[in-house]
Amino acid sequence: MTNFGFRADRPGEFQLIAELFAPLAAAPGAFDLTDDAAVLASRPGHDLVVTTDAVVAGVHFLATDPPELIAQKALRVNLSDLAAKGSTPAGYLLALCLPPQLDMDWLRAFAKGLADDQGEFGISLYGGDTTATSGPLTIAITAFGHVRTGMMLRRQGARPGDLVFVSGTVGDAAGGLACLRGEAPSLKKSERDFLVSRFQRPEPRVAFGKSLLGTASAALDVSDGLFADLGHIAGVSTVRIVLDAAKIPQSQALITLWPNPPDRIARAATAGDDYEIAFTVSQRRRAKALQAAAASGTPVSEIGHCEAGKGVVLLDSCGEEIRIPLPGYVHF
Ligand code: ADP
Ligand code: MG
Repeated sequence: MTNFGFRADRPGEFQLIAELFAPLAAAPGAFDLTDDAAVLASRPGHDLVVTTDAVVAGVHFLATDPPELIAQKALRVNLSDLAAKGSTPAGYLLALCLPPQLDMDWLRAFAKGLADDQGEFGISLYGGDTTATSGPLTIAITAFGHVRTGMMLRRQGARPGDLVFVSGTVGDAAGGLACLRGEAPSLKKSERDFLVSRFQRPEPRVAFGKSLLGTASAALDVSDGLFADLGHIAGVSTVRIVLDAAKIPQSQALITLWPNPPDRIARAATAGDDYEIAFTVSQRRRAKALQAAAASGTPVSEIGHCEAGKGVVLLDSCGEEIRIPLPGYVHF
């Protein structure tokens, strides 16, 4: 490829790759990023699980966010998809569209963020593409992982009578974004830091996702909003999901930020970017799911059940439906 559009004070494309990215390509099949393509050895008895997500400055992160954290968010939203499918992450490809104002210090910090996460999740870079853009910084990552043949957790599989759970708390990332936008002046620093880190640095639930294999009847990661995402399970599983608003788990920091309960619950249930795992489980396997959560130290909340029908409803303590204007984040 051409390096047209690159800054004169920034190394050319190939030097950039050799200096910043080749050290991240530790797997033998990545050939130190010196070939057209990489080889990922297949693992006997396993399927390869693949997923891709692009993040764009101004849409998924702020251009002023620290480069390490931008890198980690771009990677982690992909690892979260792998986690929700019960797979073990193995590696990733990195396509970068770089605007001219990013200098070498920024890029080094970006690569450092990736290196740290590669260590944390035990994965390698396998390749990618680098191009200049006059548009916003865009990072597209394709990640792959392994799962025992035929075992990947699907969105399809929830049955009437199954229970609905979600890990962690929801709405925190939206709260963190509100903080970054200066909409939370009265929050304590520790609460603010917690919410902002939930927005900037999601924690893929890898160990927990793996432990749901063979136990959950359906699962996904909460990226667009709990309500909208459970709508996907309801849609492909052809069930109706009934949620109890009082059981939607919220952090203390979010409760402080948005003190008004009905408003907070509606916002928390429809806000994106939490990267928790929402799943369904038969009543028979409920105890197994709780054991799996305890074994990986993952808090989970039982928030509703599935019945015959379609769609998702959120009920208040009187059993009245809470109307949701927009179920989740929509790009178009
Ligand atoms: P080609 O033009 O044949 O597609 P490239 O010149 O784009 O090859 O890339 C050369 C090598 O560098 C390839 O191995 C590619 O995977 C790797 N590479 C390019 N950009 C990146 C990147 N941002 N991250 C990781 N690897 C990259
Ligand atoms: Mg290329």
